[in-house]
Amino acid sequence: MSFNPLLPKIIEAVAESIAKNADDITLLDQAIGDGDHVTNLQRGLAALLAQKADISQLEWPAAWQKMGMTIMTTVGGASGSLFGTLFIAMSKALVGRESNVQIFSLAFTQAVEAVKQRGKSDVGEKTMLDVLVPVAQYLQEAVAVSTPLVQLLEQTQQVALTGMESTREMLAIKGRASFLGERTKGHIDAGAMSSCVIICAVADVLL
Ligand code: ADP
Ligand code: MG
Ligand code: MG
Repeated sequence: MSFNPLLPKIIEAVAESIAKNADDITLLDQAIGDGDHVTNLQRGLAALLAQKADISQLEWPAAWQKMGMTIMTTVGGASGSLFGTLFIAMSKALVGRESNVQIFSLAFTQAVEAVKQRGKSDVGEKTMLDVLVPVAQYLQEAVAVSTPLVQLLEQTQQVALTGMESTREMLAIKGRASFLGERTKGHIDAGAMSSCVIICAVADVLL
């Protein structure tokens, strides 16, 4: 019997949703990057799909660690090291803790901090952090007032969408897009969109 039956479902749902949005995300990375963001992610997702039976046997910290290492070694690009950092930091933050929504939210906030440090970046610079940071903030606020789970998940999706949309008029300061300066305005950041798609897919599985 699998220990964590939710994880394979989440990995499948994320892979499906990235595939569905692949063309749109690629257009964004072509407009202000080098066009490889979806290919990078799909390399990682294929590796995670191949490991999903093994991953489902692990407790959360070990599962996050294994997924993070797989992402680090397969995705490549800026996003590979950043998403890999996020997952490995989730693992570190969860070691020895129970799994509940409060602890998950705190761990996610710590993991997003690790991404900021790794990318020497912060919110407002037209990156994945414009989705990850507001989502982490919302989760912390929501658990502080014991928001019911369904409302928390739906609101998380909304916050992710708003964060993604916020990158449209931003000037890119970090990553490849920063070389294009003013030309980056008017395009959503590819990593912000993929982060939003991933978060929305995870929430849909949990809803
Ligand atoms: P690459 O830019 O190396 O081709 P990807 O296309 O896979 O890598 O990923 C690009 C995404 O990574 C960007 O859209 C942005 O969201 C994110 N990104 C790039 N640099 C940084 C950074 N320093 N901090 C946070 N996110 C970043
Ligand atoms: Mg790219
Ligand atoms: Mg690249």
